[in-house]
Amino acid sequence: MSESFLIRGARLQTGDATDMIIDGGVITEVGTGLSAAGATVVDAAGLIALPGLVDLHTHLREPGFEASETILTGSRAAAAGGFTTVFAMPNTSPVADTAGVVEQELALGEAAGYVHVQPIGAVTVGQRGERLAELGAMASSRARVRVFSDDGFCVFDPLIMRRALEYVKSFDGVVAQHAQDPRLTEGAQMNEGTVSAELGLAGWPAVAEESIIARDVLLAEHVGSRLHVCHLSTAGSVDIIRWAKKRGVDVTAEVTPHHLLLTEELARGYDARYKVNPPLRRDEDVLAVRAGLADGTIDIVATDHAPHPAEAKSCEWAAAANGMVGLESALRVVQQSVVDTGLLDWDDVARVMSAAPARIGRLSGAGTPLAVGQPASLTLYDPRPVRRFTTDDLRGRSVNSPYLDRDLPGEVRWTFFAGAVTVAEGAVLDAPGVRA
Ligand SMILES: [Zn+2]
Repeated sequence: MSESFLIRGARLQTGDATDMIIDGGVITEVGTGLSAAGATVVDAAGLIALPGLVDLHTHLREPGFEASETILTGSRAAAAGGFTTVFAMPNTSPVADTAGVVEQELALGEAAGYVHVQPIGAVTVGQRGERLAELGAMASSRARVRVFSDDGFCVFDPLIMRRALEYVKSFDGVVAQHAQDPRLTEGAQMNEGTVSAELGLAGWPAVAEESIIARDVLLAEHVGSRLHVCHLSTAGSVDIIRWAKKRGVDVTAEVTPHHLLLTEELARGYDARYKVNPPLRRDEDVLAVRAGLADGTIDIVATDHAPHPAEAKSCEWAAAANGMVGLESALRVVQQSVVDTGLLDWDDVARVMSAAPARIGRLSGAGTPLAVGQPASLTLYDPRPVRRFTTDDLRGRSVNSPYLDRDLPGEVRWTFFAGAVTVAEGAVLDAPGVRA
């Protein structure tokens, strides 16, 4: 029999404090002055109740790169950040380009039990960009894949991109594009501009992202299919998405927490923790992506959680790997960058970090509102404390976070996944639902 809970006095997003009863994996009552015999009482005064967060863009590294992360350790990192669903990118080894690999990932996620691990399938075989992977077989597998991406690489060939967009229509899928012209970014080390010129590092120009997005929204319009743009990072990209949406193109876009907060100035210290793809951009770009998220041009925040072992980051900038871990810090960075600045309220956060990513990924049972009869997947978040972010906050296998030794607001106090506790009083449990 599963444990039942009476959550007392949580704020339901922007609403008033209320009580909630969780029993049998679902929310059974919401209201004031509730009581439940035998239920574990959780004092949630001052905490915000958010629907379990959904990350459309996570790298879990398993199979193949278990020194960086595994599905189990990445699931713990996700729970620590308030997530109850993560979509796992397919750049594993082997690449998740067959029904067999995506079903294996799904099963490993179920065995870990902290979050729903929803596999993303590769667009092309081996992510090599040459021919389409078995999209239909992955869609009809037990993993029920609806999101396809060659993330890490751009689907550069326009004919392959067109075919992929056409193919996914038959099962309401979406192609999630890593928009990066590979020719314009050969050898690129950071954002192209005055700082890259000063530092003598090869630049990654904004146009390399914007030109692919422009092409792809036109392709999506032409074939009448759904396009999702991963980790959009420039002011020009926001303008193109805004234009495309006005035109009626079925396009959605994501921004990462790091692109909402950090700028290219951080490259000056040559600390490879700040090396990421797409790179950190200018102040103007940060302001533009924040505004785009606030006005709905950008639909979601997604972490692009990208764990790397220490040796891949503690080397010189040019040799270091791209990427940052982000699951544990995402909600806190979103609070600092767009909530505390007045651009988003907590209802908006629930939309951009839970409801909308679940909808884009066509995942039912995730991103649902906190209401009677809905799955008890939620996080209880305290926005009040401001604390130094340290390696103690990291629950995955890698520590390549750009926020270490920075003050961040907020703390995830409790996470429930389908009625089971995964985080209790700020600590991730050693096994979901089992408290000492
Ligand atoms: Zn990417």
